[in-house]
Amino acid sequence: MQISPLLLPEMIEAIDQTITANAEEVTALDQEIGDGDHVYNLQRGIDALKKQEEALSQLDWVDAWQKIGMTLMSKIGGASGSLYGTFFVTMSKAARDQQMDLSVFADALSEGVESIKKRGRADVGEKTMLDVLAPVAECLKQAAADNAALPELLNKINQVAEQGVESTRDMVATKGRASFLGERTKGHIDAGAKTAQLMIAAVVSVIEKQ
Ligand code: ADP
Ligand code: MG
Repeated sequence: MQISPLLLPEMIEAIDQTITANAEEVTALDQEIGDGDHVYNLQRGIDALKKQEEALSQLDWVDAWQKIGMTLMSKIGGASGSLYGTFFVTMSKAARDQQMDLSVFADALSEGVESIKKRGRADVGEKTMLDVLAPVAECLKQAAADNAALPELLNKINQVAEQGVESTRDMVATKGRASFLGERTKGHIDAGAKTAQLMIAAVVSVIEKQ
């Protein structure tokens, strides 16, 4: 099945809805171990993308990711802006001049995750968005290798993302603002991991409806 950038407006709307619906819960998480602005930061980026959604839907994935990345870098403050910005720009670079399919997408996603690690000088296990994004990228790579069927893959992605969120609970934050609290971050879920999972679930739901 081909997943067209024509779905981008619907994906952006779905992301907007889930972040708004979970704003209170996520902000509470971020207030426990961060500075409480994570939802606001994301919403600035989402609002900027909503203004571009028609234009984005007319591009191919490579150009759409590039535009999304540049927009997020310029519109979102905080760590998450430059991290997600770099993520999309790197995905675009990785997939350029290739025929888009699951395997090209999976590789691009992995490169995007690597770029977040580099930019944030972080890795899996440090209680960040990477604890969701990295296992999801890994899951897609495996699915591409196994030629997995789409419905099962989408379920698996949601499962892996939810496990990733839960895995941050017992971690000690060593990156970002939460790292200032050290051991006291134990027992709290990372807000950035939670929003990564919510946004992934939103995209999955749009693809499922196809
Ligand atoms: P800020 O931390 O600058 O206030 P946000 O509140 O928007 O930015 O985003 C915080 C989230 O960003 C964290 O919950 C975490 O998931 C993620 N994050 C913070 N620092 C890093 C890093 N160095 N690498 C990867 N992710 C990070
Ligand atoms: Mg913050």
